[in-house]
Amino acid sequence: MKIPVYQPSFDGREREYLLEAFDSGWISSRGRFIERFERAFASYVGAERAISVANGTVALHLAMLGLGLGPGDEVIVPTFTYVASANAMAFVGATPVFVDCEPASWQLDPDQVEAAVTHRTRAIMVVHLYGHPADMGRIMEIARRRNLAVIEDAAEAFGARWNGRHVGTFGDVSTFSFFGNKTITTGEGGMVLASDGNLLDEMAKLKSQYASPTKRYWHDKVGYNFRMTNLEAAIGLAQLERADEIIGRKRALAEQYRGRLSKLGIEIQGERPGVTHSYWMVSALLPEGVDRDRVVLDLEAVGIETRPVFYPIHTMPMFASLPSAGRSFPNSVRIARSGLNLPSWPGLSENGVDEVVSALSAAIEAQ
Ligand SMILES: *Cc1c(COP(=O)(O)O)cnc(C)c1O
Repeated sequence: MKIPVYQPSFDGREREYLLEAFDSGWISSRGRFIERFERAFASYVGAERAISVANGTVALHLAMLGLGLGPGDEVIVPTFTYVASANAMAFVGATPVFVDCEPASWQLDPDQVEAAVTHRTRAIMVVHLYGHPADMGRIMEIARRRNLAVIEDAAEAFGARWNGRHVGTFGDVSTFSFFGNKTITTGEGGMVLASDGNLLDEMAKLKSQYASPTKRYWHDKVGYNFRMTNLEAAIGLAQLERADEIIGRKRALAEQYRGRLSKLGIEIQGERPGVTHSYWMVSALLPEGVDRDRVVLDLEAVGIETRPVFYPIHTMPMFASLPSAGRSFPNSVRIARSGLNLPSWPGLSENGVDEVVSALSAAIEAQ
């Protein structure tokens, strides 16, 4: 592909730190980069502490375990998300309850959250999809009033802020992903935050075999190995040093797309007042009637990679027979049918944006 949808940029000290970690011999999950990365990450997002994990999926699994969610517990989650959000519930036997999203921001709709609460509801999982923050004011208000835990799946939202405050610092537990195409990357990796230090301590034990801190090879509970490696943390620390630059570049890219696409009558995912969208992906909503999948193929033919947005997960086989999957989700269905992720990597030039937009325009016209 001449223009891929994503590629990481390693213009800082990534290589230097990675080699330093490698040469130190500490290539597993001990070593000084782990703690440095955790500290720097916590400080960047404005949290007291953070714990690194192997990826964003186990971060969500750890959130479920830490909050003690299990069979019989309902967790409200937007159907329009990446599958890992709801899979984490399945890992512990909890039941996802799907809700629709808002049409402009594409984030879960607080009115629907309120309507979905039952006596079995234990938690709300917020997903800041594509880097736009969900409405944390209303969601936290509902959660407090109904005595529900809040999990923020911020895998796509590093750099996103709601009223100036970084996402992931509102809920009881928050998770991030550093997969290769995420805003900052460690290859595979993730991070977990918690508002309560004891809960974070518990998750830190669960992530590492629940090993006793005082008695070698003694374990009081079933634990896991969800650890990040020192090599990954070394890359992450260098990425973090460039976080403002990466996010600034992505926001500029989104503005370039927005101006050019609005002339064609195409909207990109809207940014609500008071929020900072970190634009993990710049995502366009194609006009009704345009065959999105044909547009993807036409762009591919000229060397431009785009991607459909996520399919609503209530339609997937493992979730389709849940009671909430039978409800209607008109906004999610409409966006899923016509949404398109555009090339969104921070190094994409303005000429590259022009090229994508003119190819997109031609592909739509050809229909
Ligand atoms: C990427 C992603 C995850 C999973 O992260 P991995 O690091 O790939 O395991 C979870 N939730 C959302 C919304 C994601 O985009």
